[in-house]
Amino acid sequence: MDASRVIRTVAGLRPYRRSGFVVRAEALGEKRLVHNYGHGGAGITLSWGSSKLATELGLQGHSGPVAVLGAGVMGLSTARLVQEAGFPVTIYAAALPPDTTSNIAGGQFHPFGLYREDAVTTEWKDQFRRAVDYSWQRFQIMVGDDYGVRWLPTYSEASRPETQLLSTFPPINRLLSQGEHPFALDHLVRYDTLYVETGRYLRQVLRDMQTAGGRVEVRRFATPADIAGLTEKLVFNCTGLGARDLFGDMELRPARGQLAVLLPQPEVRYAFTGSAGYMFPRADGIILGGTFELDEWSTVPDPEMISGILASHKRLFGDFRCTA
Ligand SMILES: Cc1cc2nc3c(=O)[nH]c(=O)nc-3n(C[C@H](O)[C@H](O)[C@H](O)COP(=O)(O)OP(=O)(O)OC[C@H]3O[C@@H](n4cnc5c(N)ncnc54)[C@H](O)[C@@H]3O)c2cc1C
Repeated sequence: MDASRVIRTVAGLRPYRRSGFVVRAEALGEKRLVHNYGHGGAGITLSWGSSKLATELGLQGHSGPVAVLGAGVMGLSTARLVQEAGFPVTIYAAALPPDTTSNIAGGQFHPFGLYREDAVTTEWKDQFRRAVDYSWQRFQIMVGDDYGVRWLPTYSEASRPETQLLSTFPPINRLLSQGEHPFALDHLVRYDTLYVETGRYLRQVLRDMQTAGGRVEVRRFATPADIAGLTEKLVFNCTGLGARDLFGDMELRPARGQLAVLLPQPEVRYAFTGSAGYMFPRADGIILGGTFELDEWSTVPDPEMISGILASHKRLFGDFRCTA
């Protein structure tokens, strides 16, 4: 693989909390405020499911217009679910797609890097599984070019199949024998999952929301008092990492991920994850990444780390062997 194939490099900050994402309701003066943030490296994956939990919590007994703070994947899916339940909605966000963290995501449906096992409760785990379940079903009905969602086999460097989070996720999910793949690796698992071309996807969901009568206003909130000034009585907080300053949640930390994007290669129809990093082929480019740097706030890609990502993939694919 040649470095001249690189078409762009990016760095984004995953909204990470060791005790997992927050879906919780509280009172803010006369308003009901429902939090829906902190999804780490799994915000695309969990978007529909976590937003479903949040809207079930918030919409009960509510009447009248609804406000959603944030226009990343979480704000957009929350706004769509609010509309589907029959309520008018306005999104208020400091930045819109393509300028959100969600636009940077690699887009694999796979809950990765979002909590620490020793920091979560049984109740949270149950919430997590319910979120995966709803999202898994929802993304399946969005497969196709409109949303840029597609199925791909994934080859994962591992000695055991993935944890089977649902009876249907991930499908296939088995250890391969050496004769079944060309990678020069001792252990390889194949599972199938969905991949989201995030730029196309977010653009389309934003359009869906506007077509259904939703309003969008560019606005930054500095404190909860700013939110109290909104006319809506029900507010969903989908501000991602922004919730740290806005609501003082110091458990929320950035986990930086860096990507090198190569020229698109439509003939590549599988994904890879392993110690070399990950490779997700999308219509807008081949996404190489997999770095996870906690408490790193810079969104400027580090040339040395990008070179490292390219070198490890070059080694991986350079070592390909022929299979019988
Ligand atoms: C390199 C990388 C790769 C990733 N790969 C994957 C993957 O393969 N699969 C996966 O599932 N996830 C992946 N993720 C994780 C995913 O991108 C995040 O979990 C997800 O984007 C979080 O979405 P969000 O809507 O909560 O936040 P964001 O996308 O950050 O959106 C937050 C919104 O809130 C607004 N906002 C913030 N603060 C304020 C404020 N004070 N006032 C008004 N508006 C505010 C912002 O302007 C924005 O509109 C990846 C992340 C990175 C960085």
